[in-house]
Amino acid sequence: MTNNRSRSFFSLTNSDCHYPDPKVEFRFTPQPTGVFFAQTHQPDVVYRSIKMVKRNLTSTTLDTLVSLAKRRGFVFQSSEIYGGLSSVWDYGPVGVELKRNVKDTWWKSMVRERDDVVGIDASILMHPDVWAASGHLESFSDPLVECQDCHKRFRQDQVQTDSCPNCEGQFGEPRQFNLMFKTFMGPVEDETSTVYMRPETAQAMFVNFENVQTTSRKKIPFGIAQIGKSFRNEITPGNFTFRTREFEQMEMEFFCEPGSDEEWHQYWMNFSLNWFKDHGIRGEKLMLRVHEADELPHYSKASADVEYKFPWGWGELETISNRTDYDLKAHAKKSGKDLSYFDDQKKQRYVPFVVEPAMGADRSALAFLADAYDEEGEGKQQRTVLRFHPDIAPFHIAILPLSRNEKLTPTARRVYDILRPHFNTQYDDSQSIGRRYRRQDEIGTPLCVTVDFETVEDDDAVTIRNRDSMDQVRVPVENLESAIRDQLNNMRVDSQG
Ligand code: ATP
Repeated sequence: MTNNRSRSFFSLTNSDCHYPDPKVEFRFTPQPTGVFFAQTHQPDVVYRSIKMVKRNLTSTTLDTLVSLAKRRGFVFQSSEIYGGLSSVWDYGPVGVELKRNVKDTWWKSMVRERDDVVGIDASILMHPDVWAASGHLESFSDPLVECQDCHKRFRQDQVQTDSCPNCEGQFGEPRQFNLMFKTFMGPVEDETSTVYMRPETAQAMFVNFENVQTTSRKKIPFGIAQIGKSFRNEITPGNFTFRTREFEQMEMEFFCEPGSDEEWHQYWMNFSLNWFKDHGIRGEKLMLRVHEADELPHYSKASADVEYKFPWGWGELETISNRTDYDLKAHAKKSGKDLSYFDDQKKQRYVPFVVEPAMGADRSALAFLADAYDEEGEGKQQRTVLRFHPDIAPFHIAILPLSRNEKLTPTARRVYDILRPHFNTQYDDSQSIGRRYRRQDEIGTPLCVTVDFETVEDDDAVTIRNRDSMDQVRVPVENLESAIRDQLNNMRVDSQG
């Protein structure tokens, strides 16, 4: 529910602009050339031109990404054989690995590697009172305008002109449209059996606050994270998997003492921006956009979006909001349950404040795909390559016997069995080796391991071919696992944004 308003840009870390004094805070304004102008109120630093380019990859169009996604098994149109269901997408064998890696990597950074965040996996259907208390029944809506001629509907804040972009007809009066999907629970379809498909995962963390806090014995500050499906009856879905009606969110509610919320908000904004960079998104394609006061959702005191520069322009990947004590208080009031917390060190009882990083798994996967895309070389040497960070790449390794010759197969399968428990590994023996390298480049597999006749007849060594440099090294099978680990680690460092 963001609106198109005047935009301000700023960054939280000085490492982004290589400025030596960590106390100087910058505001960044991106320029068309990829350069950012940084502005600060510090008297000795007025304007600086900062270039945050590290890797120089080719930009591409959305059409190219959509066709690559289909051709290589990342994403298909839902129900395609029936003509497709508009704005609904299915992940194929390669895409499901990509999206799973995005979610697993987030879960690892957010839950497994931290002492102060635990996870839950809650149901999509919740008690209808949850949505009354949270304010979604009343105000989870977007302004909708309808063309009086062609009757197409648009989100008012997304149309740039006064007339219909479809037929230039006139719009009627804007009205609010609630985005929640409704369904019925049980055999009777009436108002008393109406339930909603959750439009965000966050509410499950609020209503389970006490259960989780007491069973995990966590003390404030601590967070509850969840990954799961959400549903919104979007007025204008589009841009491939960017805005759909069914999508997956990765959200974390961080409960903290009132008064410490602004500091935690700053911390989680920083964390979020760095998470994308650490996993391969280029810094110059990312920015943090602070919401204007009139753009804030009803529950938020302050929000900022991590935005990515998609082929069609800047788009939100994640919102980090200071939700205050709004949700816990609203649920306490509606349910009659006390959701306050007793701080036994300070001997104080209070309702915690909440800072929320809320990210979309599908949008993030699309950003990783767009950002990894590169083309290089000419003529026969030309190739498309997805330069994913190894933790995000759908597969780590492809085992490629030089040909389907029966002499090679047993050794190639043995190498496959050695690597499979440690890495996400594909086996491919169809078509020429050159074509197979290209195919692996196009799905972003960091390393290919080739088994040839020398392997079988002579040295029990294989060739590792690096996706980015195309360098090849010969390694004895007994050292293969550690050689692969080293190469993947190097690629992790090289691909940081
Ligand atoms: P937008 O204004 O772009 O529709 P939003 O501000 O309403 O998004 P939030 O409520 O902040 O989104 O949700 C958190 C995250 O969930 C978003 O940053 C986005 O990554 C993801 N998300 C939200 N709506 C959708 C959608 N319709 N399709 C795919 N992802 C979505």
